[in-house]
Amino acid sequence: MGIMKNMLMLSPIDDYRVRQRDFLLQISRAITAKLDLNEVLRLALHASLIMLKGQVGLVALRAQDDVFYVKMVSGVERDKVPSLNDHLHRLNEIVRDGGGDDAVNDQLNLLAQAIDPGLIQTFALPLMFAEEPLGMMIVCRDHATDTTVNDRQVLQSFADQAAIAVHNAQLYERINQERQRLAAILQHSADGVMILNPDLVIVRFNRALERITGWEAVDAIGQYQADVLQLHNLADGDLADAIADGWPFTLAASNYAEAPLYVEGDLLRADGMAVSIGITYAPMFNPDGTLNNIIANVRDISHFRQAQDLQNTFISVVSHELKTPVAIIKGYAATLNRPDAQWDGAVVRETLDVIEDEADRLNDLIQNLLTASKLQTQREMVLEMGEVDLPRLIAQSVERSRKQTAAHRIITDISPDFPVIEGDSTRLRQVIDNLISNAIKYSPEGGQIEVSGDYDVESVTVCVRDHGVGLAHEDQKRVFDRFFRVDGKLTRTTQGTGLGLYLVKAIIEAHGGAVAVESKIGQGSTFYFTIPR
Ligand code: ADP
Repeated sequence: MGIMKNMLMLSPIDDYRVRQRDFLLQISRAITAKLDLNEVLRLALHASLIMLKGQVGLVALRAQDDVFYVKMVSGVERDKVPSLNDHLHRLNEIVRDGGGDDAVNDQLNLLAQAIDPGLIQTFALPLMFAEEPLGMMIVCRDHATDTTVNDRQVLQSFADQAAIAVHNAQLYERINQERQRLAAILQHSADGVMILNPDLVIVRFNRALERITGWEAVDAIGQYQADVLQLHNLADGDLADAIADGWPFTLAASNYAEAPLYVEGDLLRADGMAVSIGITYAPMFNPDGTLNNIIANVRDISHFRQAQDLQNTFISVVSHELKTPVAIIKGYAATLNRPDAQWDGAVVRETLDVIEDEADRLNDLIQNLLTASKLQTQREMVLEMGEVDLPRLIAQSVERSRKQTAAHRIITDISPDFPVIEGDSTRLRQVIDNLISNAIKYSPEGGQIEVSGDYDVESVTVCVRDHGVGLAHEDQKRVFDRFFRVDGKLTRTTQGTGLGLYLVKAIIEAHGGAVAVESKIGQGSTFYFTIPR
């Protein structure tokens, strides 16, 4: 962008060279002392104006879109800046399209005229760095004179200094942006992140880590990481152990960066709660191979651990619960099958009844397990909707249950004209089966069980009432939790998985309904569900 024009011949002043050196010294001091771009540009423009006896000056910088924008003005009213930007834009186009010196000069004069019609001479100096035009300095005068080679050199030296400053500032800006971006990523990362210095003192501590540990960053920073993250139940060793073993310097120089250390354990939070965490420590090295920083990524793996515990519970419950009915069926069938025995008809029928009951129970259990495991993977229950005749489902379930117990009297009380509803009949049968079977199981003394159905304009309600052991207030909410069983003598001797009511709740909620329980310990319980019509 060779647009240094019309340099004038200044009348030789005695202190001309001295002032030139003074200015250059000032500018270079400003460049090295601080990265204040404005200060350097202001000095360079000021020096150019004085040396050229100019009245008006401006510095324009090239933006990312390759266009020049006014960065600083001297002697120009602020409200003129937008129109100057337009002129610079035009100038840019002329240069880009290979317009000759005359076209460039004409455009520069138009720019000067836009500032003040009295300005008749304009100088433009490119701010070049590494052959890249980073900007432009423009000086305008109200008189015209010729210039010398020396003048040109003087001005170019100011422009060069300014270009260095612009380049430095841009670099600094870029580094700053990058730093801010990294800081934002670090701060907002969903994982906990901290940075340790080589002495294992915390120098950064992000928000997620505050949440995981219960420590505030301001308190954690400056502390030894071992004082902040006190781990128990470590899976293997911790960071200190690894370092004692030579980590991270035990690695070949070539894969320094790829040798993170993983530590897993329980952390006692500041509020006394325990969380399981996994920490990945990644070392960062200086060019000379010494340790610079350790970046630690901390993950709350409590959910993962809970899921593992749940899976273990599931497996043990399932194997225990499935074994019992299978053992009973096997035992009774083997008895019937004894070649040395002759059974009379009544015994055979009784035995077969037991086998049928146990097979039914096994079937219910498998049904519940399948539903629970589906729910685990799908999160939301998928229903096969159709017309459901609840009174008929209740009658079938009651019929089956009556066969299983002689100690209980199961009665039904369904409002006449009970409406047909929209729902998944297999799942709703499972609900009714579970509620009635619980009513039987948890009233070991026998007694009456009432199954009633009622409706209004909006919804239908089904109640299953027993006169059994009842539920303590604090257990009433928890009975709907997965695998929850009341801790008591009865539950220890009664078979169950703690899945039944969990599924009842899930199925009814999938129908847009709600479940509830009313109970008094020792007096019995009423479980009811409501589904919108
Ligand atoms: P389970 O397979 O143990 O019966 P449920 O999820 O059906 O599992 O029930 C959870 C717990 O709620 C039971 O273990 C029992 O302690 C309690 N419970 C359920 N129904 C009744 C009831 N009708 N009366 C008293 N306690 C009940």
